Amino acid sequence: MTCDCDELGRRLTELRDGALGESDCAAIQHHLDECQSCGALHKDLEDLAQLCRESERPRMPLAVRRRIEQALK
Ligand SMILES: [Zn+2]
Repeated sequence: MTCDCDELGRRLTELRDGALGESDCAAIQHHLDECQSCGALHKDLEDLAQLCRESERPRMPLAVRRRIEQALK
């Protein structure tokens, strides 16, 4: 089982800064589909993935942003 959880964490930081594009959103979604631990531990990622699906240029609600910042601590 391949799981680039570390990279996902790095992407999460980029997402927080609003630096990710559509392909990055897709990569995160793909990882969430395959990695149950990330899906369970990082519920915020699912929210982000949903934002990615719903918007071409996702904007992060402040509440989600704060939860991600807490998760990264
Ligand atoms: Zn993972």
